[in-house]
Amino acid sequence: MAVLGIDELAIAGKRVFVRVDLNVPLTPERRVSDDARIRAVLPTVQYALSEGARVILGSHLGRPKGVVVPELSLEPVAARLAELLDQDVLLTDEPVGDGSRKVVTDLREGQIALLENLRFDPGEEQNDETFAKGLASYADVYVNDAFGTAHRAHASTVGMVSHVAEHGVGFVMKKEIEFLSRLLEDVARPYLAVLGGAKVSDKLQVLESLLERVDGILIGGAMANTFLAAQGKQLGQSRVEQDKLPIARSFLRKAKEKGVRVHLPIDVVVADSLDAPSGTAVSVDEIPADAMALDIGPASARGFADEIARSRTLFWNGPMGVFEKEPFSAGTVALARAFADNRLALTVVGGGDSAAAVAQAGIADRISHVSTGGGASLEFVQGISLPGIAAVS
Ligand code: ADP
Ligand code: MG
Repeated sequence: MAVLGIDELAIAGKRVFVRVDLNVPLTPERRVSDDARIRAVLPTVQYALSEGARVILGSHLGRPKGVVVPELSLEPVAARLAELLDQDVLLTDEPVGDGSRKVVTDLREGQIALLENLRFDPGEEQNDETFAKGLASYADVYVNDAFGTAHRAHASTVGMVSHVAEHGVGFVMKKEIEFLSRLLEDVARPYLAVLGGAKVSDKLQVLESLLERVDGILIGGAMANTFLAAQGKQLGQSRVEQDKLPIARSFLRKAKEKGVRVHLPIDVVVADSLDAPSGTAVSVDEIPADAMALDIGPASARGFADEIARSRTLFWNGPMGVFEKEPFSAGTVALARAFADNRLALTVVGGGDSAAAVAQAGIADRISHVSTGGGASLEFVQGISLPGIAAVS
């Protein structure tokens, strides 16, 4: 599946629609609290502007569910983008309509407009043909640089593409495809997947599908609780998905049949509440009835780090504990360091919280690739074709 990069397309003087991911967190006063996603698309936007394109950006923000929610206007995002580019960014009043058409038509070379929150229109998420054609009518060239929504077939990621003469991807998307594709090729072995996070149910399909590709799987976080419970351990007040115990057992059985090694924690950090000032490390055989497992313990972290050091291909999704709280962050930080210290391996991290954990550990620059997509990266590593990438291929 060949995909053209924006630098392989003729864009000078053309109206170039770029689907970007400007879904940033806002403060209660509606200021951008983290502009990482805006910064991420700057290379693509600046390249297009410097080539003399007329740039039209489209993005969603939050979940307005097809109606205009004034609090979810892209206005603060347009303001921040204008600051970063040091140039005016014209925000339209609506995603598609007479006002937007006028703004886009009046754009001159090297100027940039941002369409208002695409999800204000129900047509975006419904991949509605009329809405898609409306968006497409603004553009001579379509560029997708929003990896985070590439697993969704929406009007701005799929529907409009076939109605625009030329299409390709931006620099963010290009790098995502380049690195994540390597996990589907003939990888250096051992290939180890590290999975954690809040729920087994979110990631059961990923686990099953990774069994076909990897040599080993490390499981931590609340996800590990369910597996430990499936092995008959007493988890006290920990988060356990009781209805998933049979599936967890059958997964462990399948892994054994396939010769894939599954590593579960041997100790955990427990506390009586998420707000406890500190936790205590205990063996997984001695979790008190009134306690919750909130992180992997130091012995598990050492064992996991050894497995990571031995591996030559590594994929990580989901923190090992409640890393947002300092007393329960050590396991996640230890694994992040082990990833960073392995200079021989291809290291890939995906998932919103996982990316935040890697940034918090201060080692993001020593990871081969930190994906900007959560759900999208999980689908990609399973070998599932993403509609947003298929559309521009
Ligand atoms: P990602 O966003 O990287 O895909 P998830 O959203 O699946 O990751 O999981 C992250 C969340 O899991 C975090 O909010 C973290 O606090 C929570 N979590 C991890 N371990 C535990 C645990 N032992 N108990 C409760 N919550 C946990
Ligand atoms: Mg998350």
